[in-house]
Amino acid sequence: MPSSYNGWPASRSASLIGINTNWSPLPGVKFPGGIKSGDVETIFTYLVQQLDKRVEKAAEYRPGDDWGWAYRANVNNPSTLSCHASGTAIDYNATQHPNRVANTWTREQAREIRQIVDVELAGVIKWLEGWDEMHFEIRGDRIAVAKVAKKIRDGGGVTPGPEPTPPEPPEPTPTRPPEDSVFILQAPNHPTRLIDPPLAIPIGSTTIKSAEFAGIKRIVMTEKEADTVISQTVRALD
Ligand SMILES: [Zn+2]
Repeated sequence: MPSSYNGWPASRSASLIGINTNWSPLPGVKFPGGIKSGDVETIFTYLVQQLDKRVEKAAEYRPGDDWGWAYRANVNNPSTLSCHASGTAIDYNATQHPNRVANTWTREQAREIRQIVDVELAGVIKWLEGWDEMHFEIRGDRIAVAKVAKKIRDGGGVTPGPEPTPPEPPEPTPTRPPEDSVFILQAPNHPTRLIDPPLAIPIGSTTIKSAEFAGIKRIVMTEKEADTVISQTVRALD
């Protein structure tokens, strides 16, 4: 069975991977497609209820702009499956928080979201802040997810506090969010940048376009190559 890029089994068949297609985490609010039942559902139900209560109402803008399970590839990287394909991701109020737009939430809202996902849910959910701000996905494995789900069930919710968030492994440069098709460019005398969208610009013996299909995410260039790329299309990272 294939899996989405977070390692959870993915299928076109809802029953094969235990999708609850009628998932309704709030009265009157459905996420078309549904969510993986069991511990994953417990965690997303908590997330949606907290977002609705503390951050932004779930159906505030347009009914039907919340999405769950859908068997599909990453939009820009067809070689990997979206976390939606395993029923371990949701999009929340999509019309207000579109893909590839940053700062769609206020600073206070963003802080509250981080409190919910990083502290209360101990990082088993990842929010694609700054990239795809409607999107939340499972990042933990079964054991981590089960542990957080048990806390929710035992305590009627997870309280912030004693459990420290596990430290992220150190990264020398900013990482590329998995659902986005951007490339990290490193070159002498250039700040690290994200290239978006990929172009058929030759880099050494390859091109950025072919690198995309080879699954290469980080491209080290000469200064001259970087000048060429940047003059055509780049988005500064900072
Ligand atoms: Zn999504």
